[in-house]
Order: sequence, then structure tokens, then C-alpha cells
Amino acid sequence: MITNSDSPLRVLLLGGTSEAASLAHRLANDRSVAATLSLAGRTANPAASPLPVRVGGFGGADGLSAYLTREDIDLLIDATHPFAANISRNAIAAAAAARIPLLAVERPPWTPVNGDDWTEYDSIEAAIAGLPSTPQNVFSGLGRQAIPALSGAPQHRYVIRVVDASEPPANLSHATIIAARGPFRVEDDIALFTRHGIRHVLAKNAGGNATYSKIEAARQLGIKVHMVRRPAIGSRPTVTSVEEALAWIETHRHRRSARGV
Ligand code: NAP
Repeated sequence: MITNSDSPLRVLLLGGTSEAASLAHRLANDRSVAATLSLAGRTANPAASPLPVRVGGFGGADGLSAYLTREDIDLLIDATHPFAANISRNAIAAAAAARIPLLAVERPPWTPVNGDDWTEYDSIEAAIAGLPSTPQNVFSGLGRQAIPALSGAPQHRYVIRVVDASEPPANLSHATIIAARGPFRVEDDIALFTRHGIRHVLAKNAGGNATYSKIEAARQLGIKVHMVRRPAIGSRPTVTSVEEALAWIETHRHRRSARGV
């Protein structure tokens, strides 16, 4: 007879990052875990997942909590992007309401090193306002959602890198939009910045290796970086690596077996 302690742990993995993708690959091979990957549905062609995928918002913290209860989820893992603050705050509230453990997987932020020329800001709007008022050649690594904010400073010549191709707004018709998915290479970003005469880089402090090339390229070329700090999320158990997340799941599996439930 199969008891609950023999049945797989049901895990909901909130994704949209390389960490979530790699955790999904590791969990797909673990028969003691039944995991589902949840995506917001923002990117047109998300990478194929080895786990069952559900797409789209839950309808706030209440909707997420209802989903956790309805689907009998045992563990919630938030491996969303450090700038995806809404879903992460909802995850804290929903896990508490559904009385299940939550773990965040969050890569450490970048820190400036010798040779970097950074100014840090608390918001995308503040970083854009930190650009000189006179027209500049600016690279934006702030993502598609920041494009409306860029149009508030239309005097600059922007090179905007986004995942999915999109048209610039009317008042940024001279902007160059580059649709590309990381990881990017330092030598390519040096060539890009040189070709466009970039003097300022706008960036979010995403951390990780995939998009660090722009920071390293800026350092090597003596370009100023306007860095947006991460939003505050609230307190939750957090690890920085996929290995630690797997160990956390294992701990909960053992606890459940020990309880025989
Ligand atoms: P957000 O502002 O925190 O989320 C907005 C809403 O989108 C959430 O309230 C939720 O809707 C829904 N949502 C977000 N992530 C979800 C997920 N994994 N599964 C189901 N619903 C989700 O997030 P965002 O900044 O728009 O980012 C959206 C997604 O893109 C995230 O999953 C994130 O990991 C990924 N991403 C974001 C960035 C970035 O810079 N922000 C960069 C790379 C990847 P409901 O309230 O209706 O549940």
C-alpha cells in the first residue's frame, strides 16, 4: 500500500530565471518529487522545460494561496528574478496562508570592483534621471518594462537590449532595439558599446553571470554605469544556489518520512 510518505513531494517552482530552469532539470529526474514550473508568460518563446509547466498569474497572493491548497502543494520555491518583487511578496503571503514552507533561490547581487564607475539608484526612474541632461549615447539593459520610462528622457540615443523584439515608442523612434537572450560575451558587448559610442550603461543589479558582460565591458571601456538596486522583498528563507535548494527539499522529504505522513 502506498502511504503519503511514499508519495512524491508536491513542489511549485516559481520560475523565469536560469536558476529555475536548472532546478527544473534536476527535479525532473527525481521520482520523490512531483514539481510544476510556473511562468508568468512574459516571453514569447520560453525555453523548453522538462517539468509540467503552468503559465500566467494566479490573481495575487490570495489566488496563489488558493492554488497551493487546491493542488495540495507541499513546498513552494520562489526562483523568480530578483526584480520580480510582486510575485515574491505574494509568495511570502501565500505560503503563510497555505501553511507550507517557502524557499527563495536568489543569486547574490553584483558588487563594484576596482575600475568600476557606478552610481546606484533605488528605482529605474531615478537611474534614468541620473543621466546627464544633454544628449548621450546610452545602453539600456533595464529590460522591456523600462522602455516607457526611457521615453521620459527622449533626448538620448538609446541602444536597448530586450529578450523579445518590440518597436520603440514614437518619441524614441531613433532608438536601436536589440532582441537577444543571454548569456552574453564581454568581447561582444565591448564591440557593441564601441560601435555605438556608448558613454552610459543603465543596468539592474540582477547578479549572476549571464548578463554581467555589460558591466565588465563598461569597466574595460571606462563607461559610467547607472545601477538600479534590488527592490526590498521582505524576510524569507533564502539560498543562493540550486544545490542548496535541492538540499532543502531533501530535508523536507526526510522530515515527512520521519513523521510517516
Ligand atoms: P512581478 O512584477 O513580480 O510579477 C507581476 C505579476 O506577474 C505577479 O503578481 C504575478 O501575477 C505574475 N507572475 C510573475 N511571475 C510569475 C510566475 N513565475 N508564475 C506565475 N505568475 C507570475 O514580475 P515581473 O518583473 O513582471 O517578472 C515576470 C517574470 O519574468 C517573473 O517570473 C520573473 O522571474 C521573470 N523575469 C523578470 C525579470 C525582471 O527584470 N523583472 C527579468 C528576467 C526574468 P498574479 O499576481 O496574478 O499572480
